Amino acid sequence: MRGDAIAAAFAVEIRERYGDVARDRWPVSVDPRPDELLSSWINRLALANGIAPRSFSGVLGCGDGMWSPRLDLQLPGHIAAFLGDRSGVPQDAISAMALTGWALTPLLLPRRENTRRQRSTWMQYCPQCFAQDETPYFRRQWRLASRISCFVHGCGLRDRCPACRSGIVSYDQGQLVPQHFCARCGFDLRGAPKATVKAAVRRLEHVIADIFTVESAKRLAEASDVILRVQRAPAAADIGSARTLANLSTTARIRCFGELAAKPLDWLVTDKDAAVAHRRWMIAAAGGHDRFIACFANFLDKHQARPRSTCPTRPSAELADLLAAYIWGENKNFSRRHA
Ligand SMILES: [Zn+2]
Ligand SMILES: [Zn+2]
Repeated sequence: MRGDAIAAAFAVEIRERYGDVARDRWPVSVDPRPDELLSSWINRLALANGIAPRSFSGVLGCGDGMWSPRLDLQLPGHIAAFLGDRSGVPQDAISAMALTGWALTPLLLPRRENTRRQRSTWMQYCPQCFAQDETPYFRRQWRLASRISCFVHGCGLRDRCPACRSGIVSYDQGQLVPQHFCARCGFDLRGAPKATVKAAVRRLEHVIADIFTVESAKRLAEASDVILRVQRAPAAADIGSARTLANLSTTARIRCFGELAAKPLDWLVTDKDAAVAHRRWMIAAAGGHDRFIACFANFLDKHQARPRSTCPTRPSAELADLLAAYIWGENKNFSRRHA
């Protein structure tokens, strides 16, 4: 009787529940940052909870090699659910950080661990973004071959550690060290030298990004056409490389865009559909200014305007004035409506 009483006294339910809670939730919760890539958030989550990323692969049952970049491309449902349960971050927010189903997937830099000269690595970064981040993290946009500069700081992106020339291998970090330190040599990537990209080259990059934004929001067929054109940019630039854009290092892509910035934009904007070509010219003429593009996408939708000629017309000097006049008119209408 006495033994049973002791057993009953030790069967304290509160203690069991406490154990379950500690097992189910990791102690430190980490919120995703704007445009953060899934593998970056996983690294931060692991480190915040005292586990090095390489060991964290075992916690998720993901195996060796580029385990978290694999999750970026394909996040199994059971891992998304497990991460959601343990981190307290909603599962849809976790899935949204993966790259699955992204219209620009064909332009992702290939997953590749070796870093042979002139060849792409799988990830880029901006040293200045890292320097300003409260907790440095990798952006989804940095995975795209069509991105060569930081839209915030205007400097060139980097795809290697300047000290040891390794690519980014934060998934293989065996120490409790934040991901802005090179996992091979420990160099602080915030201190990487600034890469300069000329204004005309950055302007071309913005135009391409804006054409993607407009076309991927509308018709997929057009988006895939322009994606194909950008993939073939090295041939259009005539830089003596048979590789597609995604196979070139960031330095080689900056050079490629530099050649293209000095050429007419036919390689990018011509299309058998004159209306599509016309819209691309307009975006190019607007210089990738978001506001101009938003107004004109809206204008074209409202008026279904199509040029009479079947040949795409080039933007004239007057086009910028025309755009400005249209926006001025729209602003006036808006003011009247809201007076
Ligand atoms: Zn930046
Ligand atoms: Zn290094």
